[in-house]
Amino acid sequence: MAESDKDDLISIIEEEEEDMDIPEAMPLMPVRDVVIFTDMLLPLFVGRKKSVRAVEEAVANDGFLMLVTQQDPGNENPKPEEIFSVGTVGRVIRMLKLPDGRLKALVQGVAKARVVEYVRKRSWYHVKISLIEDQPVPENDLTLEALKRNVREYSEKIMTLRGEMSSDVGAILESIEEPGKLADLVASNLKLKIQESQMILEITDPVERLRKVNELLSREVDLSAMQAKIQSDVKDEISKSQRDYYLREQVRAIHRELGEMDEKALEIEEYKRRIKKARMGKDAREEAEKQLRRLEQMHPDAAEASIVRNYLDWLVELPWQKATKDHFDIPGAKKILDEDHFGLDKVKERILEYLSVRKLNSETKGPILCFVGPPGVGKTSLGRAISKAMRRKFFRISLGGVRDEAEIRGHRRTYIGAMPGRILQGLKQCGSHNPVFMMDEIDKLGSDFRGDPSSALLEALDPEQNANFSDHYLNLSFDLSRVMFILTANMTDTIPSALLDRMEVIRLSGYTEEEKMGIAEKHLLPRQIKENGLKPKNLSIADKAMRQIINEYTSEAGVRNLEREIGSICRKVARKLAEGGKGPFSITRASLQKYLGIPQYYPEMDQEESQVGLSTGLAWTEVGGDVLYIEVSLFSGKGDLLITGQIGEVMQESARAAVTYARANMDRWGVDESFFENQDIHIHVPAGAIPKDGPSAGVAIAAALISVMTGRAVNKYVAMTGEITLRGRVLPIGGLKEKALGALRGGIRTVILPEKNKKDLSEIPANLKRKMKFITVRHMDEVLPIALEEASTKKKSAVRKKPSSKPPKAVEA
Ligand code: ADP
Repeated sequence: MAESDKDDLISIIEEEEEDMDIPEAMPLMPVRDVVIFTDMLLPLFVGRKKSVRAVEEAVANDGFLMLVTQQDPGNENPKPEEIFSVGTVGRVIRMLKLPDGRLKALVQGVAKARVVEYVRKRSWYHVKISLIEDQPVPENDLTLEALKRNVREYSEKIMTLRGEMSSDVGAILESIEEPGKLADLVASNLKLKIQESQMILEITDPVERLRKVNELLSREVDLSAMQAKIQSDVKDEISKSQRDYYLREQVRAIHRELGEMDEKALEIEEYKRRIKKARMGKDAREEAEKQLRRLEQMHPDAAEASIVRNYLDWLVELPWQKATKDHFDIPGAKKILDEDHFGLDKVKERILEYLSVRKLNSETKGPILCFVGPPGVGKTSLGRAISKAMRRKFFRISLGGVRDEAEIRGHRRTYIGAMPGRILQGLKQCGSHNPVFMMDEIDKLGSDFRGDPSSALLEALDPEQNANFSDHYLNLSFDLSRVMFILTANMTDTIPSALLDRMEVIRLSGYTEEEKMGIAEKHLLPRQIKENGLKPKNLSIADKAMRQIINEYTSEAGVRNLEREIGSICRKVARKLAEGGKGPFSITRASLQKYLGIPQYYPEMDQEESQVGLSTGLAWTEVGGDVLYIEVSLFSGKGDLLITGQIGEVMQESARAAVTYARANMDRWGVDESFFENQDIHIHVPAGAIPKDGPSAGVAIAAALISVMTGRAVNKYVAMTGEITLRGRVLPIGGLKEKALGALRGGIRTVILPEKNKKDLSEIPANLKRKMKFITVRHMDEVLPIALEEASTKKKSAVRKKPSSKPPKAVEA
């Protein structure tokens, strides 16, 4: 093995005279990974046994040794054909034997030679050689001069790029004039591939050799330059972030100098401007500025930065000081209310009073209006009319689906995607802090909440505290005192009492048929005609047809479905016109079915005839008044009571009281003591209207029970409402107008009501009073003669008896 080695060597052979003859034959040592040129002084590390022998043999003679590079450096034992044929005759100058048998030798290249013959092939090689002379060099050749200069320059360049350049090297390069020697020196230092070095070695024309070296040099310069660049790039990469920082700072400085700003600075400036423009209170402004400073410190793409931005956007967009100018033209307001609403005189009156008070004292913290009534009676549209009259913005939210406090008051900012509550969302959307803010279905709030939205709502609504309403997201207080809140509900029972206390309830009851006729003619029909692209002359609906729509196609307290049905007619007419129909189309009772199909409701009573044990009560429900049927049956048993059907706790109590009353007074209806000994009572209220008012079914239940006991049918045209005491006194009820309207829709002709409700009869429209009889009673005794028909064997009895059971006496009587 031959390797460069810089160790000092112990001289074992005395240097001999220079011009010793080179023998024709000598030992050969294959060299693995270096091509040796003439004049090179090279330390060799010799490990292979054969090579050791070759060196030893050389040393034993004149020290000459043929050094030839082997083709494959990995080959341990190269054959003659695996060794190049041109090599260099070397002379061993010094040699050192190592204890493990290996050698270190210093060899001087003496002459270029070709192996002519392998004299000995076994053990180490012995070869015959022939020396190779360089061709003669032309004198004073300019091209050669240029070539030499080039080679020198390139060499220096490479050395410089590799960091190996020194003044000595420069001097040596300058001193060598012979092109062949220059080529050899440079080639031996170039770190070429074996094949390339060998190729150069074999070129015998020195100029040609130099040219080839020059060529390789130029490639090497490029390579070294590229290598240097790659290295510096790597270094650059490491310091890129630092460099970027400095560059950015510089850019900023330049922008500052030029009076320009970068994107982030622009954003910050924009926020500053908007914060100023938003005219928020001191606390809010301080918070905004604090957040802005935080934003300034953050990387613009950081997740946190977008949260801060979102927050700042909210702060600057909320209408802290923005408000619309109020308009208090009371006659104008009356006009607007009248224009959009038929009837509702009392309600309009109350609204105008409310506005008048506000006009006189704009600082007044009046009560919050709450419109209570069944759906479709105009609560929302009244709210809109108020905003129109005051020229305020209108915003409406429904509290029906509200589950938790955060919907009102917002989520804390720690939540991802947190937002302010719906009140502030609404105000932002309005762009003013004094809109008419309508909150629907406040009565549905308590039913399905998580947390307590009602307390948050209280804080928002209460004029005493809402100047400092705090939203979780904002974490600041916002003044809601200028907002005009109007609430709506179907009923007051389920409104949290703390809220109810702060409201002024304005009740809107359902409409009578006459009122509906008026609303339809004056408002709904003209509006639907317009909305469906028709002209008034295209369509007319006859009164009788309209009445049929009201009674047979809808059954409601308000006018929503009525409007829908009218809309449906308008669409059909629009289609006919669009398809080339001429019109005008007048809808009559006869043609109505063609437009709306078969009627869905019949005003006739559901029962065909009056029955024993089946009475009609009246209920006040969320959607208006309605009739309520009560069935009572007896079956064999031990006098137990079974109550089933759509019955709440309140009605259960009514039923028990009614049963106690009926049983306690059995003798008065001529019923025997033993009547209930072997019979159970079953009271059932079929699905249908679910009463939402207080107790009022006692009288009807008692009537049905007594009907069963006496076998006298209950008149199907009589409906009764009233609660009953154990002694039979009839107690007052609520919602009489709604109930009366419901009774009329149910085909009732006589309504029995408590004496104490007599005053409420004044609320009942005159036309209703013309159609139905209202009879007030104080005691159950007064109810029975009106409600129960005379006993008749023909009447179907609701009493189901086991054949074996004894028939009740009353039935026999
Ligand atoms: P609510 O809010 O009470 O459920 P809306 O205000 O939505 O009812 O009313 C339903 C529809 O009926 C609206 O188009 C409304 O204009 C109309 N309406 C209700 N009452 C009247 C009325 N008295 N005069 C004219 N239109 C009415």
